[in-house]
Amino acid sequence: MATIPWLVDVLRAAGVQVVVEGDWLNRMRPGSFDPIGVLWHHTASTSSASNPHPALGICINGRPDLAGPLCQALVDYNGVFHVISAGRCNHAGVSGGSGPIPAGDGNTLMIGWEIDYNGANQEMTAAQYNASIAATAAVLTRLGRDSSYARGHRETSTTGKIDPSFIDLNVMRADVAAKMAGGGTTWSSIVDNTTAGRFTASANWGVSTFSTQRYGADYRYADPVAASDPAWYRFNVPAAGNYRVDAWWPTNSGYNSAAPYIIATTTGNRTVTVDQRVTGGQWRVLGTFALPAGDANRVAVSRWSNAAGLVIADAVRLTRV
Ligand SMILES: [Zn+2]
Repeated sequence: MATIPWLVDVLRAAGVQVVVEGDWLNRMRPGSFDPIGVLWHHTASTSSASNPHPALGICINGRPDLAGPLCQALVDYNGVFHVISAGRCNHAGVSGGSGPIPAGDGNTLMIGWEIDYNGANQEMTAAQYNASIAATAAVLTRLGRDSSYARGHRETSTTGKIDPSFIDLNVMRADVAAKMAGGGTTWSSIVDNTTAGRFTASANWGVSTFSTQRYGADYRYADPVAASDPAWYRFNVPAAGNYRVDAWWPTNSGYNSAAPYIIATTTGNRTVTVDQRVTGGQWRVLGTFALPAGDANRVAVSRWSNAAGLVIADAVRLTRV
């Protein structure tokens, strides 16, 4: 049986924060382990700043129906990797095959990150996402595999697993690929509501500094209305291609539960609604869209929402994928 005693060093060399959990070099399941890829999970536990790794004990010790360890590392709320095992763990079950990962014994084939968030009404934090990307890129580089060897449990599961939730796995793989390439080739641009010449909104949109979750100095807000009065973000898109669109908004219970973002794609406008009452103060993925080249209004926040609460226009980011 092989082990991966290099894991802690490889993670630290990649700038990932690591906590070594006890005798990780000798804590493992019996059986084969010859990993060729990384498998992403969520734990289904609710983490928070005051309780950053609620599933850590279970991942180390297992549960009545499944012997531990349950993953090689747990990724806590702050993006810290808690390294639990250098060997085989009970995280993957049977692989049905996904991408280059064949069907077979998932616990032999893959190294597992359990990202500690509940996946039902909680998404992974930006810190968890960034650490997972960096760690996955570093481990796949060590294994001599490309980003396609990173999979989500819901892609390999033969038993209907849904994890990790609230994330586009193709986007996540694209970010791993960019990281492995050195990150120098990815075009990305941010337009804030204060970016000169790139943001336009009518005087119906007020200016606020109320929430400390804002991006930059302030943000704009407006009541929902059944009329067209969008706030536009203009980008100089360098080439026709696929771009990930991320949005940043501050959160408040009085904000809109179905705020429409409009993306002007090569095949017409697409609308994505987001709940601005939650998941504020961080970049949230709206999706990946085909955009034409050129300097033009590309993304809008619309006031035309059927839901109550102020519609917020703060910052938007495009990243080529
Ligand atoms: Zn899982």
